[in-house]
Amino acid sequence: MADSALDALLITHLPNVRYLCGFTGSAGILVISHRTAVFLTDGRYELQASHEVQSARVVIARGPALIAAAKIAARSKSIGIEADHLSVASRKIVASVLPKGSRLKNTSGSVESLRVIKDSEELAFIRQAVDFGSDLLPVAITAITPGARETEVAAEIEYAARKRGAEAMSFETIVAAGERSALPHGVASSATIPANGYVVMDFGVILHGYCSDMTRTVHCGAASREERSLYQAVLSSQLAGIEACKPGTTLADVDAAARSELKRTRLDRYFTHSTGHGVGLEIHEPPRLAKGQDEVLQPGMVVTIEPGIYLAGQCGIRIEDVVVVTDGGHEVLTRARKELIEI
Ligand code: ZN
Ligand code: ZN
Repeated sequence: MADSALDALLITHLPNVRYLCGFTGSAGILVISHRTAVFLTDGRYELQASHEVQSARVVIARGPALIAAAKIAARSKSIGIEADHLSVASRKIVASVLPKGSRLKNTSGSVESLRVIKDSEELAFIRQAVDFGSDLLPVAITAITPGARETEVAAEIEYAARKRGAEAMSFETIVAAGERSALPHGVASSATIPANGYVVMDFGVILHGYCSDMTRTVHCGAASREERSLYQAVLSSQLAGIEACKPGTTLADVDAAARSELKRTRLDRYFTHSTGHGVGLEIHEPPRLAKGQDEVLQPGMVVTIEPGIYLAGQCGIRIEDVVVVTDGGHEVLTRARKELIEI
């Protein structure tokens, strides 16, 4: 805040609110000044806030919490808002209660940049979520049978996850079979699993608020030689990306390592997204492992490595693990097997 010449910061993005003061509910705002922190929510969360919120004074707003928060922030001259998350309408409401002389400043990524490095408690939670996710792969494999709908496979994964204690899935489960596997974000549809072809599954669970994220691609029936070599190319690319993960390496270099491995088999032009992303309280959070990202990896960062190739009308293959950057290099948290599975 001092660096950005801010006297107060209005935190409205809930994962950031949770990170800073522990509140896990779905409505709450944190106002931070140099000396104080005030958490505002409404009557529904009075009990929960009294249990969860740490290092901030709790105020139960009688009217809209945003107005109450803006009134507290209005005691300061220069007030930061989270420009990536506050809607235009909400910004207008905040501005309307400010006295003359106070002004709003857009900030971006100020809390996210703290969240990039995970502490030991966060790492333990992520490890637990990733282990939990890995254990769902056998459930998914059992559910995959020719003729079953993609949604049935997703339902089995999600049912087992909830039954075993997951708080939620970290995102809409992806099950994309046959030609649909060429859709990088093929959310499970009513399409059926073909007797012969690839099936991409991408799913994750939330435990203690922290997300897991894993992709495995299996083959229904026997894979042809060509299909096999496509799989091996993606696996080599994924391993090259993992190998590149160590402190001091730039995010772009990790992306390049995975990409250049695919170049060897001229498949890099089918790799149409970035190599990975940070995972934590949110399923996608900084850093982004992509071209042009010249920040370096640091111990405590948790990222996915997930190269994929997508051949329209034919098939898609993606393999994704969660990796933590350590002092000496990296540790792959995802335990689920990666060699080609034929069902
Ligand atoms: Zn994923
Ligand atoms: Zn991912």
